[in-house]
Amino acid sequence: MATRQIAIYGKGGIGKSTTAQNLTAGLAERGKKVMVVGCDPKADSTRLLLGGLAQRTVLDTLRQAGEITELKHILREGFGGIRCVESGGPEPGVGCAGRGIITAIGLLEQLGAYTDDLDYVFYDVLGDVVCGGFAMPIREGKAKEIYIVASGEMMALYAANNIAKGIAKFARSGGVRLGGILCNSRNVDREIDLLKAFSAELGTQLLYFIPRDNIVQRAEINRKTVIQYDPQAAQAEEYRQLAAAIETNELFTIPQPMTQERLEEILLKFGLGDGVEYRI
Ligand code: ADP
Ligand code: MG
Repeated sequence: MATRQIAIYGKGGIGKSTTAQNLTAGLAERGKKVMVVGCDPKADSTRLLLGGLAQRTVLDTLRQAGEITELKHILREGFGGIRCVESGGPEPGVGCAGRGIITAIGLLEQLGAYTDDLDYVFYDVLGDVVCGGFAMPIREGKAKEIYIVASGEMMALYAANNIAKGIAKFARSGGVRLGGILCNSRNVDREIDLLKAFSAELGTQLLYFIPRDNIVQRAEINRKTVIQYDPQAAQAEEYRQLAAAIETNELFTIPQPMTQERLEEILLKFGLGDGVEYRI
């Protein structure tokens, strides 16, 4: 079967890197061959998979060595044989951060990182911008499948809607599709209902609801995914089920982004609206 190339987008701090690493650990447990390409100048997309091992980014390696001739200089194997790469960023204040992604993917191709035996390649992409270099994985048709990480908080949904606008633009010219929303819970009231309504309005599905659990932080301090840190934990099972949901997903759509007014209407309906009375 052809490699599924998947990009994960979402607001900064929403849990993209945590979710991507935990779910790919789940895929690796299922015997899948996976590569994770970090596309964030923070370069923390593979830390949990690598046990915190210092991973030199592609851009740092290029700056120091001038050129990269071998894959092993930028690619390292982590938990479950997952191949890990960090694109890295430009020196602070200099140049476009999106460049790193373009350079990294180009080099990975040249050096033969996209081997046929890969079941999945995941791109963990910075923030809520689908522009410039950050759109690279989808603009160039590398990743055909996208998941947006969101939560019941307004800014997370606002960002998700903006990302959907970007996807819709590239979907028309290329083959990119939205596979669904992943809710990384912030324990907002009626969060599942809100996310379901939001997803339906976008013309997609709430693919999975990931509970908030402090074990994620405990595992993180130990530089591990939850699956590796405590395989018996309930949260580890959640990530396994998320991996399974991605494996079996068959709903891929071109999103229909909503207006700001419509987004606020939905938020009001599930947040402040019905049933709650505000008295002075
Ligand atoms: P992003 O990559 O989107 O910027 P991160 O994956 O770095 O976000 O997540 C930010 C923080 O949120 C992390 O430090 C992580 O510990 C925490 N976090 C993410 N998901 C969960 C969760 N399901 N439960 C508890 N904490 C979480
Ligand atoms: Mg991140």
